[in-house]
Amino acid sequence: MEEMIITAYGWIKVRRCQAKSKRTGNLCGIAAARWKRACKWHGGKRTGARTLEGRAQCTAAKTVHGEDSQAIRETSSAKMREMKELFNILPR
Ligand SMILES: [Zn+2]
Repeated sequence: MEEMIITAYGWIKVRRCQAKSKRTGNLCGIAAARWKRACKWHGGKRTGARTLEGRAQCTAAKTVHGEDSQAIRETSSAKMREMKELFNILPR
């Protein structure tokens, strides 16, 4: 399938929608929204977060928690190893 669609006797040249159908597995293929890669049903009308609140929600959703790090994990596993050794020393 060609990437562009030419309509209106060659006056309008637009991209095809690149979305893949869940049902058939084929490309959507209809004309994409202006300056976009997808048609109006597959995200061509999306504008992204516009308000400050929306931007903040996006940031919060994509931020890694930061509660854990390599150093913290190494310390934790070393302590766990030490605890297991002590547990094995105990008489049963
Ligand atoms: Zn589409």
